[in-house]
Amino acid sequence: MLQSIDVGPTDPILMLLAQYHADPNPEKIDLGIGVYRDHKGRTPILKAVKQAEAHLLKHEQSKAYLGPAGDPTFNTLVTKLLLDDQLTREPALSETLCTLQTPGGTGALRVAGDLIAHANPHATLWLSNPPWVTHRPIFSSAGLQLGYYRYFDPIKRSLDFEGMKEDLRDAAPGDVVVIQVAGHNPCGCDLNLQQWEELSSLMLDLNLTPLLDLAYHGLCTGLESDLLGLRVIQRHHQEWLLTYSASKTFGIYFERTGALIIHCKDKAVTQDVRQEALNLICGNYYMPPGHGASIVTTILESEELNQQWRKELNKARLRISDCRKLLTDSLNGTTAWHYRFLNHQRGMFSYLGLSETQLSELREQHSLYIGTGGRINVAGINEKNVGRVCEALKAVQR
Ligand code: PMP
Repeated sequence: MLQSIDVGPTDPILMLLAQYHADPNPEKIDLGIGVYRDHKGRTPILKAVKQAEAHLLKHEQSKAYLGPAGDPTFNTLVTKLLLDDQLTREPALSETLCTLQTPGGTGALRVAGDLIAHANPHATLWLSNPPWVTHRPIFSSAGLQLGYYRYFDPIKRSLDFEGMKEDLRDAAPGDVVVIQVAGHNPCGCDLNLQQWEELSSLMLDLNLTPLLDLAYHGLCTGLESDLLGLRVIQRHHQEWLLTYSASKTFGIYFERTGALIIHCKDKAVTQDVRQEALNLICGNYYMPPGHGASIVTTILESEELNQQWRKELNKARLRISDCRKLLTDSLNGTTAWHYRFLNHQRGMFSYLGLSETQLSELREQHSLYIGTGGRINVAGINEKNVGRVCEALKAVQR
């Protein structure tokens, strides 16, 4: 039976990683995979995480099953991290919100996809063009139809907000729009306040539900300012979903830690949606893994670890913007291209808009590994490799 399997395309990031590992060149450079790197190219474990783990080793009492919603304390703390002031001002908000711990942001996206497909099997889910490459398989596997809205203007090399609005006007009532809240992957361009306000009123007019994807919290402009889009949506919309990834923000990638937050129009709908989400989780992974959530909980519960984590996260964020500046300064003047647009991009990624031919030339002739469309993990740039990166980019643009 299994010999008749129809094999789909491999995830392009995983394929790139495999090509990188197979490259014998000791000077090879990986700017493909989206993990934070320090100035030596390492992805270190945060001190706050190590201390939280030491605390857990000593004090953790049990690893008994937690249930499909995960750890209630983690869920409360993540909700508070994102919506503290709103909950203080409006305590009733907690009755129309529900938070579920998930295996990474990816798990949250898949549960959201299953829930949407269950609530409205005819819904089209709208993704940015270009999307995060994994959005497509996650939501197609949930059985959803996909639509794309323009997001990046390849000529101006910036956000195409007019194109985005124009394309979303084709959406039908009940459709869902996936919008990345901060540090758009792969483009590095985010909406400003006015654009969020405009987009929000467009979605309200068209009866579209926002699904906010937050995977780089604290790594773009700061822990509060990265939540600009959430603030606008939460203020105006009765129905919204948010998927949260703790992978980058806490540097706990393989612990698979995230959350799905859902806001519904009233308490009764929230309870039904929560119950159905739990049912769908039971039919999928049954329960999320615990260790990463225990780390996040330990950090957020401790004043000292919380401060330590904020300090380390801020340092990482500042390093990313230094890396972007280093790249831009080194590129400007080296080619006919003007790379100033890179300075307007935010978060871990910059998007060069390169063709497949240019990307394979970079891999094959320069051992430089860059993601689809020319997505660069800016944190992978350092003093040692920036010269070679610029030379290689210059060579493929001749
Ligand atoms: N959304 C976006 C836009 C991402 O870039 C990522 C991670 N690359 C995720 C969600 C999911 O993150 P994870 O599953 O690793 O927590």
